[in-house]
Amino acid sequence: MLNNTKYIFVTGGVLSSLGKGISSSSIGTLLKNAGYSVSILKIDPYINVDPGTMSPLEHGEVFVTADGAETDLDIGHYERFLNTSFSKNNNFTTGQIYLSVIERERKGDYLGKTIQIVPHITDEIKARIKRAGNGFEFLIVELGGTVGDIEGMPYLEAMRQLKHEMGTHNVLSIHVTLVPYVKAADELKTKPTQHSVQELRRIGISPQIIITRSELPLSKDTKLKIALACDVDSDSVINAEDANTIYKCPINFISEGILSPIARVLSLSSLLPNMTEWDMLVKKILSPTKNISIGFVGKYLSLKESYKSLLEALTHAGANLDTKVDVVFIDSENIDLEKLYNLDGILVPGGFGERGIDGKIQAIQYAREHNIVFLGICLGMQLALIEFARNVLQIPNANSTEFDKTCKNPIIYMIEDFIDSQGKKQVRTHNSPLGGTMRLGEYECYLKNDSKLAKAYHNQKIIRERHRHRYEANPKYRDLFESNGLMISGECNDLIEAIELENHPFFVGVQFHPEFTSRLQSPNAIILEFVKQALAHKK
Ligand code: GLN
Repeated sequence: MLNNTKYIFVTGGVLSSLGKGISSSSIGTLLKNAGYSVSILKIDPYINVDPGTMSPLEHGEVFVTADGAETDLDIGHYERFLNTSFSKNNNFTTGQIYLSVIERERKGDYLGKTIQIVPHITDEIKARIKRAGNGFEFLIVELGGTVGDIEGMPYLEAMRQLKHEMGTHNVLSIHVTLVPYVKAADELKTKPTQHSVQELRRIGISPQIIITRSELPLSKDTKLKIALACDVDSDSVINAEDANTIYKCPINFISEGILSPIARVLSLSSLLPNMTEWDMLVKKILSPTKNISIGFVGKYLSLKESYKSLLEALTHAGANLDTKVDVVFIDSENIDLEKLYNLDGILVPGGFGERGIDGKIQAIQYAREHNIVFLGICLGMQLALIEFARNVLQIPNANSTEFDKTCKNPIIYMIEDFIDSQGKKQVRTHNSPLGGTMRLGEYECYLKNDSKLAKAYHNQKIIRERHRHRYEANPKYRDLFESNGLMISGECNDLIEAIELENHPFFVGVQFHPEFTSRLQSPNAIILEFVKQALAHKK
């Protein structure tokens, strides 16, 4: 098949966390809303095979794709901005590149050749980039890290080679960099940007657009200075000033004039995105007429990055309900129950490990006993079952084998074999290695008629949501739960996927992660219902 894909390479300079993911997503949104088919690929230059075993404190959230890949959180931004589902092909790491090259070397695929970074590693990188772009008019490739990092070198070399192979009008190189404000001089400084672009050009890549991140607007003179020093056209320095919502970025890019250099470099006959609906939703995020407060009970409180998708999903639900959702973080290791009373809703998100469990259980009990609107996600649902077993069913030693392997009443236990989202049988034990032994990705969930869950999903019988867990609700206790007012409202092949209380305004738990399918233009149904109910029961 002739590959007509045009590539946009996005690199970063000066320092990390500049928002390359949001810049890539924003450019993707503009192209998509102009009628083009777009995919985005994130390359992570670390050696881990995937972020599945990395601490969320270090790496942020692990985003799960429909096909069950544990990926970088930027894939979440791509899906949320482009309102589409991506796959395992949209993210790869150095670990994966080396693993496949070494596996092929062991099989003798290289016919005795010496395996080297150039061409073997770079060829594998190029092959994966092309595979991700196949079938799309545009592929945006975001390279993690910063230009100058040792880890990034093979990728920059692969990008340089690709530009040569694909021809100038098929490849656009964008560099996202920082223009810091120096208070003592009362000036925005362009030198770090100049040096970063020099480093890129030394490697053989000349960016055609520079996106600058700064706290302040850039004057025309500063832009011209950057354009001159970095050898880009005078209209190709685009300032991405800090925005009060990330969803404003595509609109800001238009005002900064990004469309003409993109169209010019890539020889596009037209690039006229229709942003009317997007604009309307952004206005609702920025100036809603209602507000609610949601208590978010978790242990990774210092880093909002760990719960990126869920916080975004609350923003999406709020935007669609003209409501500002104020998130009150509640540290589960240091819980003050009195603070919960004034909240309009309580959310216990997913999590791993024993730390902070008691506080979460106390918050759940409080929500149940005080009729506070409640949503428990994954671990949050598992703990809601443990709380109910301990305090309503009077089984004091009820627990999860995640926290007590020899527990006598394992309400939550580990299933040793299961069919994964690709239809393959998987077997695991408590001693399985951590990576890749989770039930991951999208599965069907059958909803119970007349449940609050079914109502939230517009009375659909079957929904599909994404998972990331190793433990399950134990069906042995099912009858006991059901005869005491706790309904099993969602199931998948006898697995308990959702629960709710019958005599409570809204107390729902789901084993899946609804936040992974929430988008600005189509908020997730159960998160939308949770916000709606919190609004209806506002204090
Ligand atoms: N730790 C629990 C499990 O592995 C819950 C996981 C989660 O909340 N994502 O099943």
